[in-house]
Amino acid sequence: MNSEVDVAVIGAGQAGLSAAYYLRRFGVEPESGFVVLDHAPGPGGAWQFRWPSLTLSTVNGVHDLPGLGFAETVGVDPHDPEAALVHASSAVPHYFATYEKQFELPVHRPVHTRVVCARGERLRIETDSGVVSARGLINATGTWERPFIPRYPGAESFTGRQVHTRDYSSAQDFAGQHVLVVGGGISAVQLLDEISRVTTTTWVTRRPPEFRDEPFTPEIGRAAVALVEDRVRRGLPPGSVVSVTGLPVTPAIRAARERGVLARQPMFSEITEDGVRWADGHEEKVDVILWCTGFRSSLDHLAPLRLRGPGGGITMTGRLATQVASDPRIHLVGYGPSSSTIGANRAGQAAARELTRHLGLPAPT
Ligand SMILES: Cc1cc2nc3c(=O)[nH]c(=O)nc-3n(C[C@H](O)[C@H](O)[C@H](O)COP(=O)(O)OP(=O)(O)OC[C@H]3O[C@@H](n4cnc5c(N)ncnc54)[C@H](O)[C@@H]3O)c2cc1C
Repeated sequence: MNSEVDVAVIGAGQAGLSAAYYLRRFGVEPESGFVVLDHAPGPGGAWQFRWPSLTLSTVNGVHDLPGLGFAETVGVDPHDPEAALVHASSAVPHYFATYEKQFELPVHRPVHTRVVCARGERLRIETDSGVVSARGLINATGTWERPFIPRYPGAESFTGRQVHTRDYSSAQDFAGQHVLVVGGGISAVQLLDEISRVTTTTWVTRRPPEFRDEPFTPEIGRAAVALVEDRVRRGLPPGSVVSVTGLPVTPAIRAARERGVLARQPMFSEITEDGVRWADGHEEKVDVILWCTGFRSSLDHLAPLRLRGPGGGITMTGRLATQVASDPRIHLVGYGPSSSTIGANRAGQAAARELTRHLGLPAPT
């Protein structure tokens, strides 16, 4: 791996691969001009770790990376009935592996970035495979490795099992146990649907969930992205998009509703030794608390750069809010408004374009 490059990309998920594709396209040489560092064992970004029941028919949709179609690469159209048999955790890694090869992207793995520091004009990227010095950085480290569990009093005293979405493998793991599912997002509803087929469940959310019966329109998508974009431009943490998009009512969700599984209760106020207690004093015994409470951005390795401001987030600027306002050499992609597969694509392009310009690298064509 070259130790001096113009641009280092950290992360080879949808966002990092899109950025790498456009860096190439904008004339930055692979290896001598830029490298991609990823600490996962294989291609696929976070998709390689997702649970087996997440199939091409239950994902929201994996958008094509620039220049290569997903459906033709994996040989299955997500709308075909057989998509229900294809695990996202194998199809997406296959797609990304083909992509990396086809566009000769200089992905180095497994390379773990421990920390990034500023050294004058350059950035020093310390990895477990040596130091890389770069003039610019595109950070694309996603959220999968920062599962978020809110704090509730009594959590340490609970004698049952506490797990996060990230630990989920199969509903069968909970057979015979009473499972409390926490969270109002799509993952919570999907896992609740699966688990409630094999055992008893309770569902709690902070706010009443808003189900959306009508199809997801581009306007709804744009409104969600605009809200998050506005927050990061003001230096606030990105926040959740479900409040804007609502929960799509799929046939599986409709069936779960009819089974009475989606009777939601408000959040409990504390965790007890063997369950949870609500503010009005009533208690429920549970064996497992499944926290479907989302993720935060994996940005710990950037801590020495002190990018966070008083708002608790990183103030972002640039056309698609990928550029760090306080340090224009750094772009965050797959962060905030670009944390979807389609957003990651666009962000990769915007970041590659703006960074190559900023560094005076070959002009984008
Ligand atoms: C359960 C679930 C389902 C989802 N379904 C959809 C969907 O259907 N459609 C959709 O558009 N979006 C979906 N999303 C969101 C979607 O996954 C992301 O928006 C997108 O795939 C993330 O791409 P990414 O490149 O930002 O991150 P990732 O895919 O997480 O890639 C980040 C990469 O960075 C690497 N990395 C992290 N830290 C380091 C480090 N310190 N050093 C080196 N490498 C590092 C990781 O190994 C990883 O390969 C889903 C998210 C979840 C949690």
